[in-house]
Amino acid sequence: MIDTEDVGGVHIKYLYHCPRQLWLYLHGIRPEHLSTTVQLGEAVHDTSYTRNTPVDLGAARLDFIDGSHWVHEVKSSARPSPADQAQGRHYCHRLRRVGIDAQGAVLHYPKTRRTQRFSYTPEAENQAEADIAEVLAIAAQPNSPERLTRSACRGCSYTDYCWTE
Ligand code: SF4
Repeated sequence: MIDTEDVGGVHIKYLYHCPRQLWLYLHGIRPEHLSTTVQLGEAVHDTSYTRNTPVDLGAARLDFIDGSHWVHEVKSSARPSPADQAQGRHYCHRLRRVGIDAQGAVLHYPKTRRTQRFSYTPEAENQAEADIAEVLAIAAQPNSPERLTRSACRGCSYTDYCWTE
């Protein structure tokens, strides 16, 4: 069973996208290799910021951290989402736990040349801890949560799994 230190960025992303997705992922159901969306995400990672070395924090893996201790994340999507912000917050939380005074997250969207910057405030820290607790609570559920509405599932790599009866 997953514990606090095992919670990584992908868990937080799935938490915000769909609790069922998180539960399926935690139970070893991984259809991502079939998804062109994920492949595109990997391609963007490969080509956009090649000179930066990813930072590995155990379960959490962020793209890079700059000299002012801002976390940078490169996103394959065109538009910011609450999940992106939550991931950035989570990486700041992880960095603080290992003694690095993370200041916040800068999210890069190469497709639309946008960036968003979020400071790691005390409120953000509280939310990061609440998110980890929520991941653990969903992991402990005996059955998978209900599906989202069909329209909310568009583009999800688990669509075939959830909607093929
Ligand atoms: S297909 Fe829909 S219900 Fe299933 S994991 Fe994806 S978003 Fe959730």
